[in-house]
Amino acid sequence: MSTATPTPDPAPRPERYCRVTITSWRTAPDEPSPPTVENPDYHLRYYAFCSGCGHNGPIRSSENTAVEDGCDHAHPDWREMPVMDHRPYEGKPLAAWEKQARAVYPAGWFDREGPVRAYRTPGGTRHVPGYAPGGGYSMAVLRPQPAAAPIRGEQASLFG
Ligand SMILES: [Zn+2]
Repeated sequence: MSTATPTPDPAPRPERYCRVTITSWRTAPDEPSPPTVENPDYHLRYYAFCSGCGHNGPIRSSENTAVEDGCDHAHPDWREMPVMDHRPYEGKPLAAWEKQARAVYPAGWFDREGPVRAYRTPGGTRHVPGYAPGGGYSMAVLRPQPAAAPIRGEQASLFG
């Protein structure tokens, strides 16, 4: 038997600032989908909840969209922030990356759990909680890919 003290419901929340928290659940078979759900056939739903002021974002079928809703609420300027390389995992590269992020983002941004925008590649574009210097989200920005050059030799042999 656990001797841990049960968490009060609702849990205490920081009142200092708005912040991004994501709630998710599996839909029931007969659960109606509001028009904010992009893919009604997907089995999971998400919404952003602000434990600072109690604001709820719209219900979504995409976790990334719910995270963006939460950032739009808590950090409205996030889409204008600089894009960094993806966060290194540890050690000196991580320390250098955090130092650079704090230098190019507004003062105090990361102290309020503001998100960092970071380049990613296809297949790794989930917004990752806890990956900003202050513990906020790392918002995936698809790294621009160079346009593919035409492969003339193969084209000629395919149709030649
Ligand atoms: Zn709020």
